[in-house]
Amino acid sequence: MGEEKVKEEAMRLIGIFQLLPRLVVFDLDYTLWPFYCECRSKREMPSLYPHAKGILSALKDRGIGLAIASRSPTPDIANAFLNNLSINSMFVTKEIFSSWKHKTDHFQRIHSRTGIPFNSMLFFDDEDRNIQAVSKMGVTSIHVDNGVSLGALRQGLTEFAENQNASEMKKKKRK
Ligand SMILES: [Mg+2]
Repeated sequence: MGEEKVKEEAMRLIGIFQLLPRLVVFDLDYTLWPFYCECRSKREMPSLYPHAKGILSALKDRGIGLAIASRSPTPDIANAFLNNLSINSMFVTKEIFSSWKHKTDHFQRIHSRTGIPFNSMLFFDDEDRNIQAVSKMGVTSIHVDNGVSLGALRQGLTEFAENQNASEMKKKKRK
């Protein structure tokens, strides 16, 4: 499926849901691209997972913010790759630094930079420990097996809407 087709399908999926995230956060290595960028050279022209670009463009066109949360020890290479791919300017914030914590400090920074509450964010990552830690903060977090894909987007938007409905129900019960 070409990039335009993927984008079209992603736009259609996004259109199905009434409750949408305000910000979608992506890991880099093995989520947006199929390698560890620390093992590569800045001068290379990397490639993304096949659905990644179409999904990013669709979210952006729908007015949903995009961000990066990566524990890569080589932010210079990661940034060079985002530039080489011409997608650097799509992100409202990029938190790329190594940390012993499982991205909880990345998300604290994203929250303080954007002011967006954790429960209005959707996150994609290939590592279970990050998914577990970040979902405890209230972020809808989706584990990806083979990079971000239309299937993962559908699952993410579905779980996001379910989480929003569940917290609405709780609020109503308290009244
Ligand atoms: Mg990763």
